Amino acid sequence: MEDGLEPEKKRTRVLGATTKITTSRPRVPPLTAVPQTQSQTTAQKVSKKIGPRCSTTIATVLKNQKPVPAVPVQKPGTVPPMVGGKKPSKRPAWDLKGQLCDVNAELKRCRERTQTLGQENQQLQDQLRDAQEQTKALGTECRTLEGQLATVQAEAEQGQQELKKLRARIVELEERLSTQEDLVQELQKKQVELQEERRGLTSQLEEKERRLQTSEAALSSSQAEVASLRQETAAQAALLTEREERLHGLEMERRRLHNQLQELKGNIRVFCRVRPVLPGEPTPPPGLFLFPSGPGGPSDPTTRLSLSRSDERRGTLSGAPVPPTRHDFSFDRVFPPGSQQDEVFEEIAMLVQSALDGYPVCIFAYGQTGSGKTFTMEGGPGGDPQLEGLIPRALRHLFSVAQELSGQGWTYSFVASYVEIYNETVRDLLATGTRKGQGSECEIRHARPGSEELTVTNARYVPVSCEKEVEALLHLARQNRAVARTAQNERSSRSHSVFQLQITGEHSSRGLQCGAPLSLVDLAGSERLDPGLAFGPGERERLRETQAINSSLSTLGLVIMALSNKESHVPYRNSKLTYLLQNSLGGSAKMLMFVNISPLEENVSESLNSLRFASKVRLPPVIPRPCQYLWVVVGFSIRTHLSSRPGSTLSRKVLDSQASGALLTWFHF
Ligand code: ADP
Ligand code: MG
Repeated sequence: MEDGLEPEKKRTRVLGATTKITTSRPRVPPLTAVPQTQSQTTAQKVSKKIGPRCSTTIATVLKNQKPVPAVPVQKPGTVPPMVGGKKPSKRPAWDLKGQLCDVNAELKRCRERTQTLGQENQQLQDQLRDAQEQTKALGTECRTLEGQLATVQAEAEQGQQELKKLRARIVELEERLSTQEDLVQELQKKQVELQEERRGLTSQLEEKERRLQTSEAALSSSQAEVASLRQETAAQAALLTEREERLHGLEMERRRLHNQLQELKGNIRVFCRVRPVLPGEPTPPPGLFLFPSGPGGPSDPTTRLSLSRSDERRGTLSGAPVPPTRHDFSFDRVFPPGSQQDEVFEEIAMLVQSALDGYPVCIFAYGQTGSGKTFTMEGGPGGDPQLEGLIPRALRHLFSVAQELSGQGWTYSFVASYVEIYNETVRDLLATGTRKGQGSECEIRHARPGSEELTVTNARYVPVSCEKEVEALLHLARQNRAVARTAQNERSSRSHSVFQLQITGEHSSRGLQCGAPLSLVDLAGSERLDPGLAFGPGERERLRETQAINSSLSTLGLVIMALSNKESHVPYRNSKLTYLLQNSLGGSAKMLMFVNISPLEENVSESLNSLRFASKVRLPPVIPRPCQYLWVVVGFSIRTHLSSRPGSTLSRKVLDSQASGALLTWFHF
């Protein structure tokens, strides 16, 4: 219980005890002012050492001690008498008695003083003892108090620490409280938000539920619709498969009939094209060329041509002018000078398409230099699309038909080559880089041992898939020819240019393949050498060239005739040209020869030669012409019927040929 008391109370109790001890001592009255001052100073010194509380006690003790006299106290009467307030004068030397009396008095005083002092000493010693005892008691008390003080301090310190801890805890709790309050506020805000959201979601849910119900209703109706549509789709798929089968059958039939039609038209056909008179050229006499119309009148395509030549060497007996000799020629088609490039191409488009169906096709341009062969094959100068020749038009047509046939599962690839045969040497016109215009030697070889396919060594074979690529190749060929050209010798007109396109078609799902070359040949000028020409070194070279040209052209004529007559031996090997083209000429191959004619009077002789050559090449068509007209009319009606069918993706040309083929079959019955 004692220890449990508060430090303040304890202290009060201790102090009370001290007061009791101090007051129990008898009070000693102060003797003099000086000793009192000395005691106070001592008490102050002590108090400084032992602290304020103990110093109070010690000061009290010292106050109670008897004061020690600082000066001896003189008894009255012992003091030498003073005269007039002056110190008693010194006894004369002779007054020994007086002096002895003084000494005795002095001794007496000293003895009294000593006695007093002894008593005082005794008193002081007693006091000292008391003081020591008191000091001892006070020391004990002080130690006790110090112990208590230390305990109190420790307790106070502990209390302080606890207080500190409690304050920290309070701060912490306050912080937590404020955090919790914030949290509560936040949660309350969130709660409000969530409540809002919940309200929104609830309304959304309700809306969705309403929509779901609507959708479910729609879904069930859609499901029913889908089921019926599925049935319909299955039926349509079956129909589609059937139609695809039919379409494929029709496509194959179309190919067969198209080929039949082409064969009936003649596997070897000849078209004649007379170029217009160019600005600066002399106007030919009227009636030099005549283009009689067919039995159907001027609307009939022209197939005949008459050339009138007055022979000055012949004379009449009367000397009258000899009437000009008229030479009549008949071809598969004749194009008068006004004919445009697209008109010409339209006539050969169907033939070109045979190459896609897997039949080799070869088109020649024959005629003297300047008659329009290059114009017909490659086109006019300046890149005018109207003047584009057969090569770019044919390739564009092939690309577009191949694109249409891709819808039926056919995939086509095209590889182009362009070579020149000059003086029985072959040169690549598509050479690039260092070989450009060099005319490095090329050889015609079989692609593989035992294979009939021919290839030209050192020549470039370039895959093409669009018009731009073909244009680039024609441009490159023109550049190569220009490099080879010399002032003396316009080599392009003295050589054969052979553009070949190897076509490969594949129907992967049916495992079908077809492939054929399309050859477009711009032949060398067919003009004869002037017999009256003086043979200098240059002319000799020219003679050799001309002989090579004439030889290869006559070999071509012989090959064509041998093929027409179905002879067992065809002299392909007699010239590089026919040797290179042998796969494009025989068998099921289709051949078309353009005989290009100059309209000028000065070229009449060469024109006659060309026309005669072309007439020899041409065989009359198997089908009588009136019947052809009938087929066209009926074929047109069938085409209209076929193209009006829903879902028909057939091209106009395909339908045309289908209709015409069907008619041919009908005609045979
Ligand atoms: P070839 O190749 O037979 O030597 P070209 O094709 O070079 O003859 O023709 C000679 C010239 O006649 C060229 O300037 C050409 O543009 C022009 N030409 C040829 N045919 C026609 C035509 N049908 N219409 C207009 N110009 C033509
Ligand atoms: Mg030419």
